[in-house]
Amino acid sequence: MSTNQSNWIVETGQAWKLYVAVAGFTGALLCFTFGIFSLVTGGERFLALVSCGLFLGCATFLWFTAVLRCSHCANKLVWTMVSTRPHSSWVVDLAALESCPACGGRLDRVA
Ligand SMILES: [Zn+2]
Repeated sequence: MSTNQSNWIVETGQAWKLYVAVAGFTGALLCFTFGIFSLVTGGERFLALVSCGLFLGCATFLWFTAVLRCSHCANKLVWTMVSTRPHSSWVVDLAALESCPACGGRLDRVA
């Protein structure tokens, strides 16, 4: 009935993980932004804000890497894409995946 081209992340009900990751990275970016702004006003909180952003960014990335896996072979897809694709396009390539780069299983079907 519907020929909607939704990607496998949405198809398998994992879109919320993407939203949480985006929220986490946005929060990290906000910390950096406020950190840089705080430099203008004396820089008292610069270190705290930047380390907070760094921690949030790393934690979000590690979590995202750990939760988004192939349902067939449990391959860490985020990590595979980050380490094999250019930094500018791995997110797009990840969302556009049809089968697992490690085992070839269809990603839109749960094993
Ligand atoms: Zn796989």
